[in-house]
Amino acid sequence: MPTFEEARTIILAHIKTLGTEEVMLLDATGRVLAEEIAAPWDIPLWDNSAMDGYAVRSADCREEVTLPISAFIPAGSLPHLPIGEGTAIKIMTGAPVPPGADAVVPYEETEEGDGWVKITGPVVARRHIRFQGEDVQAGESVLRAGTVIRPPEISMLASCGQLLVPVFRRPRVAVLSTGDELVEPGEPIAPGKIINSNTLALAAAIRELGADPVILGIARDNREDHRQKIGEGLLADVLITSAGVSTGDRDLVRETLEELGVLPLFWNVEIKPGQPTAFGMKNATPVFSLPGNPVSTLVTFQELVRPALLKIMGHRRIMQSGITALLREEVRKKPGRLHFMRVRIEIENGRYIAETAGDQNTGILTTMVRANGLALLPADRGVFPAGTEVQVHLLDRGFEMLEG
Ligand code: AMP
Ligand code: MG
Repeated sequence: MPTFEEARTIILAHIKTLGTEEVMLLDATGRVLAEEIAAPWDIPLWDNSAMDGYAVRSADCREEVTLPISAFIPAGSLPHLPIGEGTAIKIMTGAPVPPGADAVVPYEETEEGDGWVKITGPVVARRHIRFQGEDVQAGESVLRAGTVIRPPEISMLASCGQLLVPVFRRPRVAVLSTGDELVEPGEPIAPGKIINSNTLALAAAIRELGADPVILGIARDNREDHRQKIGEGLLADVLITSAGVSTGDRDLVRETLEELGVLPLFWNVEIKPGQPTAFGMKNATPVFSLPGNPVSTLVTFQELVRPALLKIMGHRRIMQSGITALLREEVRKKPGRLHFMRVRIEIENGRYIAETAGDQNTGILTTMVRANGLALLPADRGVFPAGTEVQVHLLDRGFEMLEG
């Protein structure tokens, strides 16, 4: 049985990106850039004013002067003539600086009369001008391949006129729940039934990462249904199944995967929760079989599937570096497996403090809702006294909850 790190290494060794596509600029938000982008032109495109005021020749303004206003250049228009010696040109922010002018004097530092402006001076050359190419020069690389596209990158791409953006493809991730006991949320609840919460939880987790969930519904606990729905799932870029992967009489996921030619890479991982987590490959399609308990499903997704999906989408930061926190109280566990303890992280005196988010039984979803982190309790140890340093992977709401 692989350890957590071994399992993650095996998974990531089999994961590749899916190739690239071009998307409209706005749709590139959150995607990963697949190619380096070079600026097709200088940014700014030309020298322009950083203020509303007067373009002048600094040589004319070594001391207090009054200059005639010879022209007006609003933003978006062009200077008609170079600036004449001993004159000022009224200019708005963003308007091109007229040839010959080498500074802009903001309104606030002038006194305007009828056709003239008084400038206290001295005016320093180059003041309040944004020079052509001072930000980026034509041909310069502005974004590297592998960059996650956020609003600043959108702004840069827009400034480069890049309306179609080459990004890594998002995987279609098929989600299949299994079990005769399941009813879909909203369906009548009959005695003995359990609401299928995993399908939507996984779909949400997939969507949150920027991938594209494909909901396959529920495979009932018979071979036919498993074969058909898992077969369908293998047509996606990634397949995630939930439940039916242990060794119970009705746990058919394992044999169906083997029957359909999925190469098994591991069936269990030395972790809790989530020991019955399996991973295999059908040609280029990774298949994750997660345990059915909703908490185990979410924890194994977070720890083992998430890095894989990020890698497929071209992300370079695919593993959480985690934070180091101090345990508020003593924690005990059975040595043998790595435990992911659902914790609440708080900051006290500049340190992260981890306290249990509540009952760690895998049947208790409330604790998962309350948690903002998963503390990694190493496999070989059993007793963790109060004050022990532990690694914690923040859940997606981690920082939000720390602040609020
Ligand atoms: P299994 O591995 O099939 O024995 O399932 C383990 C536990 O997870 C059982 O209590 C199931 O009822 C529960 N479970 C399985 N699938 C789901 C699901 N899709 N949503 C919520 N609970 C589930
Ligand atoms: Mg089952």
